[in-house]
Amino acid sequence: MNDDILEKVTDYLRYRTECGERTVELEPETLAALRTMHKTGAETASRAAGGVAPATREAPPPKEIAPTKPDTLADIAAECAACSLCGLCEGRKQAVPGQGYAENPDIMFIGEAPGADEDEQGLAFVGRAGQLLTKMIAAMGYTRDQVFIANICKCRPPNNRTPTPPEMAACIPFLKRQIALIKPKYIVALGNTAILGLLEKTGIMRLHGVWQEFEGIPLMPTFHPAYLLRAPAAKRDCWKDLQLVMAKLGKTP
Ligand code: URA
Repeated sequence: MNDDILEKVTDYLRYRTECGERTVELEPETLAALRTMHKTGAETASRAAGGVAPATREAPPPKEIAPTKPDTLADIAAECAACSLCGLCEGRKQAVPGQGYAENPDIMFIGEAPGADEDEQGLAFVGRAGQLLTKMIAAMGYTRDQVFIANICKCRPPNNRTPTPPEMAACIPFLKRQIALIKPKYIVALGNTAILGLLEKTGIMRLHGVWQEFEGIPLMPTFHPAYLLRAPAAKRDCWKDLQLVMAKLGKTP
């Protein structure tokens, strides 16, 4: 059937429709020609709109998803060593990522930032405050390598000053990744900087001995060993705080 006749049939049908008729008898040949015309027209319109005719549509190739590499403590340590997110990198000899038993230890101790000895050795809590922490850990029935010891900031602030909020904010993601990998049963937060960094709370005098939570992990705030060196009378309160942790772990002094 040529285009001219088809046009006429179309006009005729349109007219009958306008007259209110809903059905019309057609020769089989005319009907087949109309069907072909309708199909060709629909495909042309679809292609013009950037589509693909249903009969030829194919499933898109599966997207390749690159396997993501699991995070590791070694990766975090390497990133700390290369980090320049804040100004503390300028004065550091070494970054101090933290060390200890990293597989679901009973306790993770978290302090403030490395001092001169830690910066020298690349290890957390090895100076005077660290020696007192070692005694606290022993009193709780552990050795240093049975717990994990880390800090809020991985680089030494000049003259051992308190890290600033931007320095803490730059470093906290490293600590959060460490905690997620290490999965300690309990966290002991040592001093104001630790509770500010982990809980965004201030006031160690008020909060020590009061259970808190960090990302689902029970957290006990207590005094920083450097403070205990300056104010030895606070050691009694600190010991009470640590005993609360021991009680949860089923340990007796
Ligand atoms: N003080 C801290 O807070 N961390 C250390 O590693 C050493 C001293």
